[in-house]
Amino acid sequence: MRAVLGDAMPESVLTQAALQCAFDPQRALDAVLSVESAGLPPLDARTNNDAPLPQRANKETAVVPRANQEASAAPRPEKAKDREAGQCQLDSEVLPKVARMTVSGKKQTMGFDVPSTEENGVVPSPSVHRGGSPDDMTMKTSPETPSKRPETPSKGFGGAEEPPSVPTPGRTPGKAKQQLNVRAELEKRQGGKSLLNLVVIGHVDAGKSTLMGHLLYLLGNVNKRTMHKYEQESKKAGKASFAYAWVLDETGEERNRGVTMDVGMTKFETASKVVTLMDAPGHKDFIPNMITGAAQADVAVLVVDASRGEFEAGFEAGGQTREHGLLVRSLGVTQLAVAVNKMDQVNWQQERFKEIISKLGHFLKQAGFKDSDVFYVPTSGLSGENLTTKSSALALTSWYSGPCLLEQIDYFKPPQRSIEKPFRLCVSDVFKDQGSGFCVTGKIEAGYIQTGDRVLAMPPNETCTVKGISLHDDPLDWAAAGDHVSLTVTGMDIIKINVGCVFCDIKEPIRACSRFRARVLLFNIEVPITQGFPVVLHYQTISEPATIRKLVSVLHKSSGEVLKKKPKCLGKGMNAMVEIQTQRPVALELYKDFKELGRFMLRYVGSTIAAGVVTEIKE
Ligand code: GDP
Repeated sequence: MRAVLGDAMPESVLTQAALQCAFDPQRALDAVLSVESAGLPPLDARTNNDAPLPQRANKETAVVPRANQEASAAPRPEKAKDREAGQCQLDSEVLPKVARMTVSGKKQTMGFDVPSTEENGVVPSPSVHRGGSPDDMTMKTSPETPSKRPETPSKGFGGAEEPPSVPTPGRTPGKAKQQLNVRAELEKRQGGKSLLNLVVIGHVDAGKSTLMGHLLYLLGNVNKRTMHKYEQESKKAGKASFAYAWVLDETGEERNRGVTMDVGMTKFETASKVVTLMDAPGHKDFIPNMITGAAQADVAVLVVDASRGEFEAGFEAGGQTREHGLLVRSLGVTQLAVAVNKMDQVNWQQERFKEIISKLGHFLKQAGFKDSDVFYVPTSGLSGENLTTKSSALALTSWYSGPCLLEQIDYFKPPQRSIEKPFRLCVSDVFKDQGSGFCVTGKIEAGYIQTGDRVLAMPPNETCTVKGISLHDDPLDWAAAGDHVSLTVTGMDIIKINVGCVFCDIKEPIRACSRFRARVLLFNIEVPITQGFPVVLHYQTISEPATIRKLVSVLHKSSGEVLKKKPKCLGKGMNAMVEIQTQRPVALELYKDFKELGRFMLRYVGSTIAAGVVTEIKE
């Protein structure tokens, strides 16, 4: 107990707890921590006294050491309450499934006492990552160029149409298929809740990790002992205010730099949804990772820092608020919750909230978000105010009666999934299995898959058999669009499979090409684009060097009418048809056939220069 608590707790308290819990150190620790939190001043006492919470410089004094106090102020879900009630449940009951995948196939659990993937006999091996691009050079600080993705599916069923039927699991190919109702089965699997992939975006230091880390904590997804450990460690490292962020920023390098590099992933639930959360890196160097995360998201939470000067810095040219906003919209996200964060820094002033809404609202509209799909929530990630329960702080309730962040996430419309379309899975990781085959992971973008199915990998245009499917480490007989799964496959050489390959239906395969036409929207670019312009194509999980082979035409922004054929160059804000040549073949879909698989981004020397949709596949 001392090892965990340090010298903070008197000997008598520890002894008493040990006696009460029959010398079970885990239970005793929990008991001590619950008592400790219960005895602390409630959150409102702090938020009401109008003194903004200190940030960074003097964070040690006010903020984190009493992380547990937030828990005592805000009602928590059943499980967490039980713990408070002194039931001394085992930690394992509330251990979060927080995992971070790397391209190497290694799954790093995030500081929690979660068993490692190796327990399943999965031996990570380096996967082949397409790289060598100019963008990669901007990511030197990252030890590897990871491909991140969510681990959970999302389903939006909502249609009145008859659910499709799929064969039952375990069949061998060619045998008569028994019918299974995928939509109904999916509903059953999630206990009636729809699944939502959510990406958290925003300028570096806006408070994304703190906000989501604290939200997870309030939901009971992080046990007290772990949180206490983070507090102690972060205090020791002189970064006490980062304790909540550490819940999500797992790697040592991230902690040292204080920035999020990978897209972390975790899972939590709202009243009607199971949410897979991706905390995207806000730092400019890590935008390629953010693209991969956002490409798999259904909805986004944009975190902005309400402090004077800080919101403006994030919003200016070069700030990530704009770039992230544009990126997620270009990648197909239509619903957005804006967490106007660090409101404690501005005394929860309504004027500041309004000012931010008006500045941001205008921009988001330009970026293509409908006003009715953007929601603003005032929050403090640090104090936990308005995250999982409606605030009771007078400074806020005097003018705000809207939903808290969790409620707002719950209100998102569930996305429609393409379950009826042919099977498509974009590989985000490849690694060797213990058995005869190997494993690929990725999100199923369309259709469904069952064990025993034969599938085609594009490129290299080879087939294999799916021997096993797992979701969140649980074996399944089938999985469908939106699910982030791991497939064990046999009958193919691992060497041939790269990150970025698409596994697809043999009868209705995806096409691989190295030349295609696309309609692109150019962002705020400094250098005009001419024929032969080198770019990096970011598409799903890949980043592939490419060139603009032809400038076909300049188009009218809204009507799409051709304004000029064969232009000599393309400038900022233009809409154009171009032909793109990639260095190696990539598997693509036309936007009109598969929205999810027809979108891409182009980057040049570390900045995103365009978003595009595939209109024609050449060769
Ligand atoms: P990220 O880069 O967007 O993930 O930001 P972090 O979560 O790492 O937070 C950056 C800094 O802002 C840390 O020092 C946090 O403690 C601080 N911070 C985050 N949220 C709040 C908040 O609501 N109020 C205050 N005062 N500080 C915050």
